[in-house]
Amino acid sequence: MDYYMPTKVHLEKDSVKKHTKELTALGTKALIVTGRSSSKKNGSLNDVTQALTSEGVLYIIFDEIEENPSVETVMKGAKIGIEEHVDFVIGIGGGSPMDASKGIALMIANPEENESLLYDSRPARHLPVVAVPTTAGTGSEVTPWAILTRHDERTKQSIAHRIFPTLALVDHSYMAFASRDIIVCTAIDALAHLIESYLNTKTTIFNRMATEYGLRLWGSVKNCLLKGEALSEQECQTLILASTIAGISIAHTGTSLPHGMSYYLTYEHDIPHGNAVGIFLPAFLDLFEDKEQVKRLLTLLDFKNEKAFTKYIDSLFEVITLREADVERYIDGMLSNKRKLANYPFTMTDEKFYRFFKNSVHVVKPKKFSLFGHK
Ligand code: NAP
Ligand code: ZN
Repeated sequence: MDYYMPTKVHLEKDSVKKHTKELTALGTKALIVTGRSSSKKNGSLNDVTQALTSEGVLYIIFDEIEENPSVETVMKGAKIGIEEHVDFVIGIGGGSPMDASKGIALMIANPEENESLLYDSRPARHLPVVAVPTTAGTGSEVTPWAILTRHDERTKQSIAHRIFPTLALVDHSYMAFASRDIIVCTAIDALAHLIESYLNTKTTIFNRMATEYGLRLWGSVKNCLLKGEALSEQECQTLILASTIAGISIAHTGTSLPHGMSYYLTYEHDIPHGNAVGIFLPAFLDLFEDKEQVKRLLTLLDFKNEKAFTKYIDSLFEVITLREADVERYIDGMLSNKRKLANYPFTMTDEKFYRFFKNSVHVVKPKKFSLFGHK
């Protein structure tokens, strides 16, 4: 049995301020990688720049990371990092900046390479990465994955290199600035990580210890997503802990079919990651053939049965409509997605995938036309 989780995690209020020495010991000049605005508003960027300044560590800021970051943006950030001779990278924000920071850290350390290195599994070095999450969802602060948008493949895919952040400074306070939609989508992403890691071919006893605890924690605050009001500090704290634990879970197993299927919805229909994953979860439980495991999972989450789980998810998201031709294309893609199929313990077929989609989204067939008008 293997267990490898090399990221040092400090999860507490004021984590950046309290661990300034560890943060600044990682280099002499940092490239801060972040989104366009949220880290400026929620205080995370200010906490990091103050910490660096207090210890005389230089920095430059690359604040152009879009949601679902692209290979092109990673290459742009890396170019700046190379020109500025930075020796470590700090990703601040949701999963998008944290994932981008891993790709950028790889490319800066290999300045002679082009973007094809990202998806080339040859071993390659990378600069140290620090992750400061501001959403409670992806767990990217403790995973080796970095999911980038590949316009060449018209989908999203994790890079071929496993890059664990060296240090993760996790503070729930930044979540106070997130909208309800962001809180819901990211929390459901964390739930999906726990579920897809629990019902996974690669699950082990070590991994289960984390996942079972994460499921219980997540289940204990699930009702906070249903209320209209802002989350309490305690709820934010619990969600971010559950999300980091969920990250530790998928660091070992990877994700499964819902994540694989979600990438098409995000790339082609602009559906946020957590929403795109979440709508597949009820049908994923229905599809999963080992019902004992599903029952145990639902008990850990404190849901009575699959019906109650489905009702819960349905109350959070709108129904998504897809054309049948697109669904057929996505099924073909999934049937050749060896990574995701390997994580699912049972055989998948065309028919099973079709049912899976049909039970998750509204599939429409195009109207038939004749030469003489509508039929
Ligand atoms: P995100 O794409 O990083 O951010 C979504 C939105 O939330 C952005 O508009 C961002 O604003 C805003 N935001 C972030 N933190 C905020 C805060 N504290 N207050 C207010 N607004 C805030 O969202 P995410 O769901 O965290 O990350 C999704 C990405 O992570 C996807 O690309 C997904 O594939 C990837 N992912 C990675 C892993 C992994 O293991 N590495 C796992 C699952 C998902 P700004 O743009 O202004 O910052
Ligand atoms: Zn995810």
